[in-house]
Amino acid sequence: MQSQSRSTTYDVCIVGSGAGGGMAAYALTKAGARVALLEAGSMWDPVKDGAMLKWPYDSPRRGASTRDKPFGEFDGCIGGWQIDGEPYTTAPGTRFDWWRARMLGGRTNHWGRISLRFGPYDFTRKSRDGLGDDWPITYDDVKPWYDEVDKLVGIFGSVEGLPNEPDGIFHTPPVPRCYERLASNAAKKLGLTVIPSRLSIITKPHNGRAPCHYCGQCNRGCMTNSNFSSTGVLIPPAQKTGRLTLIADAMAREVTVGRDGLANGVSYIDKKTGRDTHVSARIVVVAASACETARLLLNSKSSAFPNGLANSSGTVGKYLTDTTGTDVAGFIPKMMDMPAHNEDGVGGMHIYMPWWLDNSKLDFPRGYHIETWGGRGLPSAGFMGGIHRYPKGGGYGASLKDDYRRYYGSTIGFSGRGEMIPNDGSYCEIDPSVVDQYGIPVLRFHWKWADAEYNQVKHMQETFRAIIAEMGGEVFSPMPTKEQGYGIANGGAIIHELGGARMGNDPKTSVVNANCQAHDVKNLFVTDGSPFVSQADKNPTWTILALSMRTSNFIAQQKKAGAL
Ligand SMILES: Cc1cc2nc3c(=O)[nH]c(=O)nc-3n(C[C@H](O)[C@H](O)[C@H](O)COP(=O)(O)OP(=O)(O)OC[C@H]3O[C@@H](n4cnc5c(N)ncnc54)[C@H](O)[C@@H]3O)c2cc1C
Ligand code: SF4
Repeated sequence: MQSQSRSTTYDVCIVGSGAGGGMAAYALTKAGARVALLEAGSMWDPVKDGAMLKWPYDSPRRGASTRDKPFGEFDGCIGGWQIDGEPYTTAPGTRFDWWRARMLGGRTNHWGRISLRFGPYDFTRKSRDGLGDDWPITYDDVKPWYDEVDKLVGIFGSVEGLPNEPDGIFHTPPVPRCYERLASNAAKKLGLTVIPSRLSIITKPHNGRAPCHYCGQCNRGCMTNSNFSSTGVLIPPAQKTGRLTLIADAMAREVTVGRDGLANGVSYIDKKTGRDTHVSARIVVVAASACETARLLLNSKSSAFPNGLANSSGTVGKYLTDTTGTDVAGFIPKMMDMPAHNEDGVGGMHIYMPWWLDNSKLDFPRGYHIETWGGRGLPSAGFMGGIHRYPKGGGYGASLKDDYRRYYGSTIGFSGRGEMIPNDGSYCEIDPSVVDQYGIPVLRFHWKWADAEYNQVKHMQETFRAIIAEMGGEVFSPMPTKEQGYGIANGGAIIHELGGARMGNDPKTSVVNANCQAHDVKNLFVTDGSPFVSQADKNPTWTILALSMRTSNFIAQQKKAGAL
């Protein structure tokens, strides 16, 4: 393979432009660093390339999914569960799904924007129940950075003062829609806590961006940049500094090290030419998403680091977790034949149900939160699939059309999102015999759910069924059995993979220190979800953003002090 080097030596080379990499690019260029940002996917501008304003009839397939848009043709993310030429493998008996984005901004182009802070308990779980590990930092260490992310990006929500659900600096949240009010009333009757949701969508003008106009299409990306994506909110201001060099279609394959044992750049495949190329940098920040980061570090072998870079502990790829998840949907007769009414809103839930119980009285140690969906979204391909599930639904012609009108908006669904405890059976490693189309060795996944997760998911199922019953509704599917794992989603399927380069004070048991700096290589940093010590029941991205900003600030300070 021909090899070439770029002539400039950058202050920092960042791998990956999603939440973690985009924030590092923003914060480091603002701090004065000259940054090269490597992104394996192609360029993307949500304002020009997004499909926010498209109608289903604008496409012959009415928005149905395509190979590189499995969540629908109009979805804002190029990537998927399988990527041509880039396989991964699973160990026998393992069921693991891996969603990868391949575009500027990564998964932030279509994520759900549910933006939750981890709470004080979430950083100290081992001290509380003896399981897993504590983080080397506390909520108080991260709080100022959560505040900065709130101020920079913008988020709506409400101040509630709940124990492990820290409040932020919020814009006014949208009011609940009809189906959300009904769900909220039922859940409250059963003793659950229901509060306005917390989404990184702005409801008033913010840092030059227009407020949300409630089109409800957030997963397509936002052409007015009213929600958060790395491409809409972080990359443009970084570019404006004049210090960002964006290198798209660049598949990093190795972080290179010099004779001094320090990182000196990144080798990547230029996907357009197929050439192996090297970019030199004084500092390397890896943010390729948790599992890709583990893969890159494990593949960065040298005589100084024969087991992979920053892997003297042997823990790169270990302590991998995903959120636990299961869904229940049902039909609510009183929402049938609904008169036309305004259900405009954001492209996500307006209500949120945080964990409300005491685990010491339950047969599982960690909590979950509940996400709600339903209502009268824009019909497109696959709309109300399975109409025969509704009582007397189905048939042909005019009566079928009448049924669609009658049942439109009468479905409600609940998704549980819970905390998994890291275990020795859930990790990724390099497959010894499979490489991708660029010749880069791929990951092999191992996955194991424990009783803690199964019992938690059983509780989710029972709770969601109770809420639907309280609403006077009928659940579409029977309660999954123990043999069916109570309906637990496959590892990876909730797309909250975390860990693989976890932080800690002890270099023997962790990869990075409390500042996300590699114990073994002082000019190597990790700013995606891989340094997470534990999951929490909260979606992780707000914490990825806060930690990335915190680490970038640390890098800038160290540089100023001459320590890097
Ligand atoms: C449909 C969906 C809904 C979600 N909803 C939520 C939610 O509501 N709340 C929440 O908190 N989280 C949510 N998430 C998860 C969230 O998207 C991720 O936590 C977040 O994007 C992770 O940021 P990241 O920077 O680690 O990775 P990514 O955003 O995936 O970015 C990684 C980037 O690195 C690039 N890359 C990978 N390997 C290489 C390489 N070798 N060389 C160069 N570049 C590389 C990729 O192409 C990608 O662009 C959701 C995810 C999905 C898919
Ligand atoms: S609902 Fe609001 S934030 Fe979402 S895409 Fe529409 S305008 Fe943008």
